[in-house]
Amino acid sequence: MQIINLLSDTGTKPTPGMLQAMMAAEVGDDVFREDPTVNALEEKCAALVGHEAALFCPSGTMTNQIALKVHTRPLDEVICDEMSHIYQYEVGGYAFNSGIGINLIRTDYGILNADQVLAAIKPRFDWLPKSSLVVIENTCNKGGGSTYTLDAIKNIRLVCKNQGLALHLDGARLFNALVETGDTPAAIGAEVDSISICLSKGLGAPVGSVLTGSRDFIAEARRVRKVMGGGMRQAGYLAGAGIYALDHHIERLQEDHVHARQLATALKQLAYTANIRPVQTNIVIFDLEKPATPPHFLEYLKKNGVSASAFGPQTIRFVTHLDVDSRMIAQAIEILQAYSATGNKSQP
Ligand SMILES: *Cc1c(COP(=O)(O)O)cnc(C)c1O
Repeated sequence: MQIINLLSDTGTKPTPGMLQAMMAAEVGDDVFREDPTVNALEEKCAALVGHEAALFCPSGTMTNQIALKVHTRPLDEVICDEMSHIYQYEVGGYAFNSGIGINLIRTDYGILNADQVLAAIKPRFDWLPKSSLVVIENTCNKGGGSTYTLDAIKNIRLVCKNQGLALHLDGARLFNALVETGDTPAAIGAEVDSISICLSKGLGAPVGSVLTGSRDFIAEARRVRKVMGGGMRQAGYLAGAGIYALDHHIERLQEDHVHARQLATALKQLAYTANIRPVQTNIVIFDLEKPATPPHFLEYLKKNGVSASAFGPQTIRFVTHLDVDSRMIAQAIEILQAYSATGNKSQP
């Protein structure tokens, strides 16, 4: 049976073209900065977002954790949304790696505004942590793939600048946001101090993330990457996949967004769904109406060849990506329509 993978955009396999690019990559020892393909990827990413330099890392968790470390000192705090990846899914690494606290803002879909940020910044007293960094996430995964407008980022930037805080963008899915908003990477880059970009999400590379920022910031980031064990050697084979992804897989993200909207439209017609979050990019998050429950629903989907995940006690997440085509979406919709929360038993 063919599996329709709505579990995550991290599960994509390299396309034949990407594999060819990987095999053809020229490589060297990147710890000595002698891997031409890694260097090319870093230069490409820096140029794309208009930053001075970039650093290739094994994961988005590492690029975020390095950014937290370089932007802060112990006893500082980072301000972010409660749904942020750096808070929810990075093992509490902000405390472990950087010795900093976290100051959470609660929103509906993970998108902060400048007033909320300003209100969260702590005054300078000896007994308070120092608010020194704001992290925004675009798109916000737990927020349902929600996007920032450029204006919202500009306003947050202004607050950070006035109050002396740095601004980091967790752009794991930045390109999903940009193909929707039409903003350029450089326009976003101009408003933030650093960006973490995942090559291994919707862009379809097997491994890797890139951190961008000023020359000084990246020089220090390179040292922190090494101490975290992220200095790789002939990483050009992976960087080659990243370059290929940036060249070939950005525009097609639109298709994933169309597919996500098709899923959401279908779900809206079904009695067992509720509270479908607004779909802006490639993520669909919704609740199940009782008696439907995630285990029963996911088991049904699995039996029918669809994989997905629970995202809360009554919540389900679907993610679309380049390994799910239109035919598979049509098939998934038929399977969703055929679901009955009570199986063959009569309705309660
Ligand atoms: C996936 C993701 C990351 C980092 O992921 P890795 O799995 O460590 O590469 C960071 N931020 C967001 C929003 C993500 O979705």
